[in-house]
Amino acid sequence: MPESNQAAQILKMDLPVLMLSMQNYEVKQGMRREIIRFKAEEVAPSSAEVLENQGMAGRRNLPARIRSLVDSAFELFGQLAEPRGILQEWPVSEFETIYNGNGLSSPHGPIPLIVPKACGLALFAATLGDAPIAKSNELFAGGKGALGFMLDAINSLAAERLGRLMANRFMELLPAELSRNKQIKAQHYGPGHCGWHISGQAKLFELLRPEEIGITLTSSYVIRPIKSISGFLVAGEIHIHRFVPNFPFCKVCKERKCIQRMAILEDAK
Ligand code: SF4
Repeated sequence: MPESNQAAQILKMDLPVLMLSMQNYEVKQGMRREIIRFKAEEVAPSSAEVLENQGMAGRRNLPARIRSLVDSAFELFGQLAEPRGILQEWPVSEFETIYNGNGLSSPHGPIPLIVPKACGLALFAATLGDAPIAKSNELFAGGKGALGFMLDAINSLAAERLGRLMANRFMELLPAELSRNKQIKAQHYGPGHCGWHISGQAKLFELLRPEEIGITLTSSYVIRPIKSISGFLVAGEIHIHRFVPNFPFCKVCKERKCIQRMAILEDAK
């Protein structure tokens, strides 16, 4: 073996050990880290989604007052939101370092089933910024609760959409043979859901360092700004993302977001 190849081989073999002994804030060699800025209109939900969120799905003859509230809330969101995200590629083989960081996450959940079969993994966090959340709080406090509710609904739906957009961005970063393969899809999964204990945020934040884009974590694992989103972006063949939500913790899950997320993934081009 030529000397340069031998050196490369030794470096490759020693890399995991080296990485583990390095300080956690070191970016892994060859693993991409990217900050993405979105336009407010890219993350904004549709009016129909907002109305559905407010219990007015498909309602005919919507009062002009409601239409006006929806329009005003979208206008505020467009003025105030500064959506952005950060992602950091991570070795699939080391997902447990983060998932099982403190031993509180369930070994029987979708993440331990899905991630080992993935062809790509990244850590991510994304936010709308402080301003749209502060504005909805201000509206509630100032007696304009109806507009506050509308803006709050837009904020919540936009945060969920940010997860989808980050997964799409991760797909674009994959090697061409994977990103062009229609069978490969990326999904997002986060601490505090589906068996991944909320305290997993600590390890995730320690390794990802989303403070770089203004996302922080409190000692009780609350992300600031609120309505931010974080977790894994997982790329793999569509079938690995399919599961039946009948894990023990699903009995107390009211949101059941996995069903909607799976449906969106199945429909994604
Ligand atoms: S039902 Fe809830 S807890 Fe269970 S997998 Fe779906 S989103 Fe997760």
